[in-house]
Amino acid sequence: MLYRQSQKIFSIIIFSVLLTAFILFPLPAQAAERLQETGEKIVVVIDPGHGGENRGTIENNHEEKFMTMVTAQAMYEELCLYDNIEVYLTRTADIDMSIEDRVQYAAEKEADFLFSLHYNASESHALFGTEVWVSAFAPYNGYGYQFGYEFLTAMREKGLFVRGIKTRLNDKGTDYYGINRYAVDLGIPSVIVEHCHVDEERDEGYCATDEQLVEFGRADATAVAKYFGLKSSSLGVDYSSHQLTDASSSSVLPITLKDDTEPDICQITIKEADYENGLLSLIVNAADYDSPLLYYDYSLDGGVTYSRREVWPDCDALTGAYSDTFTLNLQIPSGTKPTVAVRAYNMFDLFLESNYYQSPEAFAAKTEIPASSENTETDSNEQENQINKKDLAESVLSENVAEEQEVSLLTFLEICLVIVILIFIILLVSQLIAYHSKKRHRLQRRNDAGSRRDQHR
Ligand SMILES: [Zn+2]
Repeated sequence: MLYRQSQKIFSIIIFSVLLTAFILFPLPAQAAERLQETGEKIVVVIDPGHGGENRGTIENNHEEKFMTMVTAQAMYEELCLYDNIEVYLTRTADIDMSIEDRVQYAAEKEADFLFSLHYNASESHALFGTEVWVSAFAPYNGYGYQFGYEFLTAMREKGLFVRGIKTRLNDKGTDYYGINRYAVDLGIPSVIVEHCHVDEERDEGYCATDEQLVEFGRADATAVAKYFGLKSSSLGVDYSSHQLTDASSSSVLPITLKDDTEPDICQITIKEADYENGLLSLIVNAADYDSPLLYYDYSLDGGVTYSRREVWPDCDALTGAYSDTFTLNLQIPSGTKPTVAVRAYNMFDLFLESNYYQSPEAFAAKTEIPASSENTETDSNEQENQINKKDLAESVLSENVAEEQEVSLLTFLEICLVIVILIFIILLVSQLIAYHSKKRHRLQRRNDAGSRRDQHR
């Protein structure tokens, strides 16, 4: 009896410990096999985007059709060093080539995968980061997702901001991007790789020289090698047991779903105003129910002008995570009475503007204006530099605050859970002990009564 009781208690304790461990240390993203089945030999077709009249992005002395060629050649050379692979380029010269012809070429080569290489730029010049466009349709979205995860993880390690693995549909409900649309028609897995944005300061440093474009090509090749589990004796690497990320329909679909609506919530509330030191803290509350929030920017002049775009605290386009609340610390220019607004941007660059916070009073002048300024150009440059540094400090500050808040809340919840479980165990054990001792007393009394009856007889 006692043995069975202690067995019960023991199993409850084990269960509680396991439950606590599971909540405190959630399992990492599941590793899985490659969804795509292939023959022994892998055939890869690399497509250097654009060419000829179609120059692609032309920004900051960059011309996309040449950049993609440098990267594609490097990817080609690196991939050729692997065993059991055939590699082809859709074009090797600066020529016009239709999207249909590129996919047709891949079909003729019986390609296992078509990789279309690109460099990005945005109309607003505000975007930065790297992304992969995949077909929206199974099983190609799963293949694209498993490759995209390998590629983007490497890009994140390099320091680039990850914009995600995305899909986009046209009015007819098929893939918006021609490469993916035609490739699906011909049954060829494909992706569009947008390495980074050539027109934004935070990305430009990654693609300024030919050596950097070659580095991208090598990284592309490594991601392909990991995706197909390739081996290279000359490089001394073996990815044959490399595990890919899980791309079952339940994990892929929420991430590769398109989102054509702006975020659902974006609100700001005042937390603290230090008028003397020109510091304003706001709480930003935002959510998008379809895709994660990736950037924010803010206005101090009632939405007329906005800051440069900053990374949304704790966002991860690969898992869909982001903080729905964070503290934004702003340095307010002296002598101004700001009207603040914040815009939240989702994974598809759609934004929602917050309510306006109108400061009730002006922030005090913090520093005196220099008495003389001979070289106005240098001064304005310096000012700009200072503002940039300030922006950077602000964004770092706001991220830290958000992170701290989230960590402390999580720790608090974890402690609460542990306490609840402990109380539960203590209550249970004391109940069992009480029950057991009561039973023993009853048994004792019965025995005593029995022996007394015996005496009477
Ligand atoms: Zn392009």
